[in-house]
Amino acid sequence: MKNVSFLDLRAINLRYLKQLTTAFERVLKSGRYILGEEVNIFEKEFANYCCVKYCIGVGNGLDALTLIFLAYKELGLMKDNDEVIVPANTYIATILAITRSGLKPVLVEPDIRTYNIDPGEIEAKINSRTRAILAVHLYGQPAQMSVINRIGKKFGLKVIEDAAQAHGALFNGKKCGGLGDAAGFSFYPSKNLGALGDAGAVTTNNQKLAECILSLRNYGCCSKYINIYKGLNSRLDEVQASLLRVNLKHLDQDNKARSSIADYLLRNIKNSSIVLPYVLKNVVPVWHLFVVRAKNRDKLQSFLKKNGIETLIHYPVAPHQQKAYREWKGCSFPITENIHKHALSLPISPVMSLESAVRIAKVTNRFC
Ligand SMILES: *Cc1c(COP(=O)(O)O)cnc(C)c1O
Repeated sequence: MKNVSFLDLRAINLRYLKQLTTAFERVLKSGRYILGEEVNIFEKEFANYCCVKYCIGVGNGLDALTLIFLAYKELGLMKDNDEVIVPANTYIATILAITRSGLKPVLVEPDIRTYNIDPGEIEAKINSRTRAILAVHLYGQPAQMSVINRIGKKFGLKVIEDAAQAHGALFNGKKCGGLGDAAGFSFYPSKNLGALGDAGAVTTNNQKLAECILSLRNYGCCSKYINIYKGLNSRLDEVQASLLRVNLKHLDQDNKARSSIADYLLRNIKNSSIVLPYVLKNVVPVWHLFVVRAKNRDKLQSFLKKNGIETLIHYPVAPHQQKAYREWKGCSFPITENIHKHALSLPISPVMSLESAVRIAKVTNRFC
């Protein structure tokens, strides 16, 4: 039997070999490789997809989130050492965006069922320095944005989404990326919407913020050689934008394919030592990852490997236990630590066959 790989990026992209090649050729022949038509059009198409007014293409997902904070600082709404509330179990890039911007991350435990920030734990962490809540739609399931927005409003905080794993996911019927004040997306190749290299975007309905980020991504220019901010270079390039336009056309269909695999696994994995993903009623997740929990996680991983099924761990070390963030040494986040110790991501992708899903369920059910 053929092994089940975790994610076959080659197969994913080769489905559209012709369209991707045509897009690349168009850019090659245009002679314009930075900030041209492709970026312009992709920004319009992705804003449209997310049902927001503005999309700004940038270099990657980390920069997208960082640029949101830098723009709020330029607009005088945040300053050094202001605090940003963020889930403790997120991917490290979420936290890096806050510290890179000179702000202070304040970690909050997640809800063990959904792995997203526990809205009930937020208020206790708010003080006079708090400026924002950075909600993460982890593994492709939207965070509880209506409660989070209500808290944001009550305390005058910005609500920002880390939507890097949630392209197309819905909360109360509304797309991620348009649920707060601004959102950061990553188009890293393995994301639900991926480029063939690094790429990212910010989405927002706030015109001032959009204009500021548009300038900051390009040295802080307002027009050629005229600088109004100390910006950076984080532009989405024309080749990646042209390829993203191809992949965006297939995003909904790809998310549907992921969803049917997820449905199959949810219905057919029946093993009392394994906790399956939990989906809230008011969301439609996009299954960036299919994460289960097992007491004996490492044993489950080697059992699956022995049976030809490749899995990964998202993530093995919690941010507060990373060497890079020594300042949190000794801090305790038991729910977060529990997740990092027990979580295992089973394979899921838009090109995975039902046959592979059947095999995953069968093998997983045999684990004890
Ligand atoms: C991938 C990811 C990022 C960072 O995106 P890059 O494009 O790799 O910089 C940020 N947050 C989350 C939750 C991610 O999954």
